[in-house]
Amino acid sequence: MNNLIFTESNERFKVSIPNKLLNEVQGLCELSFPNETGGILIGSYSEEFKYANVSEIIVAPSDSRSGPTWFLRGKNGVKRKLDRLWFRKKYYIGEWHYHPDCSSKLSSQDIKQMVNISNNENYKCPEPILLIVGGKSNSWEYSTYVFPKGKAFVQLNNE
Ligand SMILES: [Zn+2]
Repeated sequence: MNNLIFTESNERFKVSIPNKLLNEVQGLCELSFPNETGGILIGSYSEEFKYANVSEIIVAPSDSRSGPTWFLRGKNGVKRKLDRLWFRKKYYIGEWHYHPDCSSKLSSQDIKQMVNISNNENYKCPEPILLIVGGKSNSWEYSTYVFPKGKAFVQLNNE
């Protein structure tokens, strides 16, 4: 398969991530080990917002900060990049980050951050996606979540 598909059992939400993007993400995680890293997921939606296709990522902006158990994604250059992508019909659709040598399960801090994004008009993204990479080289693990504005978050399963 060329894509990793994450879906909810009733298929209300579905996220597709190309393997080559995951490889790129793994490379960034290896470089940043033992510290966290992360960035932004870029892509597009199918009609009715049911199917999100991740098509590229933005790597950690230069003002990002991190340690072994935390990551603060910076903002340097992000707005300019998003504006440029918009003209190519590619949009902000969420965030990704790395839990070095740990579970890819989300933390309470992760929930807070994503709820803030779903409520933040600047992102124009009422259903942001969170991809967390856990583990390390040769034992990667992924978790994917959707945060519909004003509702409980949903964990998606790897098909
Ligand atoms: Zn996290």
